[in-house]
Amino acid sequence: MASIRELHKQLVNKERSAVEITQAALDRIQALEPKLHSFLCVTAQKALQQAQEVDAKIANGEEIGLLAGIPIGIKDNMCTKGILTTCASRMLENFVPPYESTVTQKLADAGAVMVGKTNLDEFAMGGSTENSAYQLTANPWDLSRVPGGSSGGSAAAVAADECVVAIGSDTGGSIRQPASFCGIVGMKPTYGLVSRYGLVAFASSLDQIGPFGRTVEDAAILLGAIAGYDPKDSTSLKVEIPDYTASFKPDLKPRGKLKIGVIKETFGEGLDSVVEQAVTKALDQLQDLGAEIHVISCPRFRYGLSSYYIIAPSEASANLARYDGVKYGYRAPDADNLLSMYTRTRATGFGAEVKRRIMIGTYVLSAGYYDAYYLKAQKVRTLIKQDFEKAFETVDVLACPTAPTTAFKAGEKTTDPLSMYLVDLMTIPANLAGLPGISVPCGFDQNGLPIGLQLIGKVLREDQLFQVAHAYERSTTWHLRTPED
Ligand code: GLN
Repeated sequence: MASIRELHKQLVNKERSAVEITQAALDRIQALEPKLHSFLCVTAQKALQQAQEVDAKIANGEEIGLLAGIPIGIKDNMCTKGILTTCASRMLENFVPPYESTVTQKLADAGAVMVGKTNLDEFAMGGSTENSAYQLTANPWDLSRVPGGSSGGSAAAVAADECVVAIGSDTGGSIRQPASFCGIVGMKPTYGLVSRYGLVAFASSLDQIGPFGRTVEDAAILLGAIAGYDPKDSTSLKVEIPDYTASFKPDLKPRGKLKIGVIKETFGEGLDSVVEQAVTKALDQLQDLGAEIHVISCPRFRYGLSSYYIIAPSEASANLARYDGVKYGYRAPDADNLLSMYTRTRATGFGAEVKRRIMIGTYVLSAGYYDAYYLKAQKVRTLIKQDFEKAFETVDVLACPTAPTTAFKAGEKTTDPLSMYLVDLMTIPANLAGLPGISVPCGFDQNGLPIGLQLIGKVLREDQLFQVAHAYERSTTWHLRTPED
């Protein structure tokens, strides 16, 4: 499928109707879902109805926005009024939200056509989408491999052209890492830039919603539509949202003005040599485009992983206390008293990884351990933030791999949670510091699997990240490759 701008042109010039574009996406979904399983539900009827509304506007001579009539996938942890929102959990197998999340509302107002809700790791906990209670999503580049996670359904759907763009959420890397594994662009915005009203909470001090696209421009247009102040989210920032595509140019000149810092510590042990080579080549390319490359040290980054796996489960254990079989969602049958109803509901409604996190979280928050673990992790978080602040005194943008490897085989890490957690090494620091990060395709390994370059920016400098990523993308052809059907 074409880009947002190309499709917009076709619509405005009446070469194609929104219904035709939507039907093409639905046809692809029907053809590919038996092997991909990116969607938990397909909302064909509603999509065609939304598309008809866009066509009616065009027929009336009304002006339409860039996203009008564009097929989009939504991660199934965002509430959609009247449409099942499961979070890929048994706990919410029958949850039909009575309200709409701010992001999906904004998209609907912009005329975007939601084609369905995409698969994820249960409650967004995981890095491979294998923790979904319902289905395994395949990586479109190699069906025996994972698409990454937790927003694996959204990433696979965009990579396989089942929709033009998609929405994900990123608590520790869940947009950037699947974007890297699936060979597309994924961006985690600054904490507070996009409203989380209606996003099912995982770890509230880290969660952020963001866009997936096959090109930097598509992701930039999508972020522009979902960002902005929302009184319904108390962490929402009151800032003006620029046109993120306005600053696009073909290079990074004047030469030496833009400074990119390569994070030294991310090139150590555990990094696949093929990923290292691709990222190093990408940095050379950025230099050719006009950037000045510096080597930067962020010595406390390596503690990011351990502090994240204390802070995120702590917040998760509090956020998930609401699923008790009383208020909404699943309730275990055949319990004979209130206590056993609670325990059975939580024992059978949650999957293994979610229960593991609740146990870690409640343990580290308990009276005797709070100072030793939780408080310590928060202090480490501050140190990591300071590493970033120091780095940004000399450079404008930081660069490193998005993930240490390319997509791994399904089942390869499921029995060893620690090895799964290690995949998040390079994405977690940006969440701990609340900074924006983007993953952009920068090559392929010997098996034809995509590799991602990660760029991390200063607070609210999404414009700069998009600018650098766009200039890089224009000078490469990685984004033009597509997986075979
Ligand atoms: N893989 C990380 C985790 O399991 C990140 C998840 C996310 O960003 N939602 O917590």
